[in-house]
Amino acid sequence: MIPRVPLPPDARLDTLAVREGLPAGPWGENSEALFLTSCFVHPDAETAARRFANEEDAFVYSRFSNPNVTIMERRLAALEGTTGCIGTGSGMGAIVLMVMGLLKAGDHVICSQSVFGSTIKLLQGEFGKFGLESSFVSQTDVREWQAAMRPNTRLLFAETPTNPMTEVCDIQALADIAHDGGALLAVDNCLCSPALQQPVKFGADIVMHSGTKFLDGQGRVNAGALCAPVEMVETKFVPVMRSAGMSLSPFNAWVVAKGLETLSIRVLAQSDRTLALARWLESHPAVERVYHPGLSSHPQHELAMRQQNGQGGAVLAFNIKGGREQAFAVVDATRICSIAANFGDTRTIITHPASTTHGRLTEAQRQAAGIGQNMIRLGVGLEDVEDLKADLARGLDALVA
Ligand SMILES: *Cc1c(COP(=O)(O)O)cnc(C)c1O
Repeated sequence: MIPRVPLPPDARLDTLAVREGLPAGPWGENSEALFLTSCFVHPDAETAARRFANEEDAFVYSRFSNPNVTIMERRLAALEGTTGCIGTGSGMGAIVLMVMGLLKAGDHVICSQSVFGSTIKLLQGEFGKFGLESSFVSQTDVREWQAAMRPNTRLLFAETPTNPMTEVCDIQALADIAHDGGALLAVDNCLCSPALQQPVKFGADIVMHSGTKFLDGQGRVNAGALCAPVEMVETKFVPVMRSAGMSLSPFNAWVVAKGLETLSIRVLAQSDRTLALARWLESHPAVERVYHPGLSSHPQHELAMRQQNGQGGAVLAFNIKGGREQAFAVVDATRICSIAANFGDTRTIITHPASTTHGRLTEAQRQAAGIGQNMIRLGVGLEDVEDLKADLARGLDALVA
């Protein structure tokens, strides 16, 4: 067995976020060391044989086992409340691993039509080539999910809230539909992170992450993970990782593990700033509509507050009165916000989804997802909220001047 940190069994989440991982090495380092090694040395040939045959737990080769990756996996599993976790090179890599580990040609997956653009491309396009069947349904209408169920449905995949519309789905209701039909529910928890939402509490079987977002939290690395029961991780995901190698680099795992230590205070502070900005945007005459689950005007406000620990999260979107040209003008008038396509960073990021993150979708797919040319997304960071308002006001005020 790879030894565990000797923590009290009743240690709470904030303690686990800082302390869970591996015990210190022989030098007693307080902060985790970096294990930049592609392979590990065995004491003798017999031991090496046992370890390669999976008869003894040990670090072997960093494509599928490395101490930094294990530290990140244990810490994230503790936060999500799952018994297992497997790190991947990116969030998309985590979805590839999940599909390869759980599904085969002829199986059917149901997914919200409002999920991350690349997720739709991956399931429908890339995996469609290998015979995976997929249906895309309304994020919020549970009856559409129920109606899409087929005898060969093996997986329901939801993202809540969605990016960029912040539509919230009822995790418990989808888990019930999945389980009644003998399928699993996987939830992409990127937008909330376990600091705000733990999908397994509402019946989800698998939690998928892009560590690139809030888990790193400072915009440095790409990373991903699947949190799931340890038996599923060991029997379904580890063998695929060994063959397919969508591995998380030890350095990136180290960055994410350190990021997890400050996750909850960051996300709570960012969520507060986001709500303040959302309320301010709602009152601005150049703004047509604001999407943020913390607003009482949000269609799933109450569900979101129940599922997300009373928090709206740190991503919002808004429609301006106008089209692409006016949206670009608001984006271009900012001096603090970074014009980029990410969120979950300490630096506020401003994005025009229709031409960037969702640019590869067809116009029809974008319409179905509700992403117009007049939409702007903000991944709110930790700058002073008054400075952020002034940054947005520069472009918005000009539209109504
Ligand atoms: C970014 C993102 C992904 C993909 O993660 P990468 O780490 O960029 O591969 C998946 N889902 C959501 C909701 C995301 O925001």
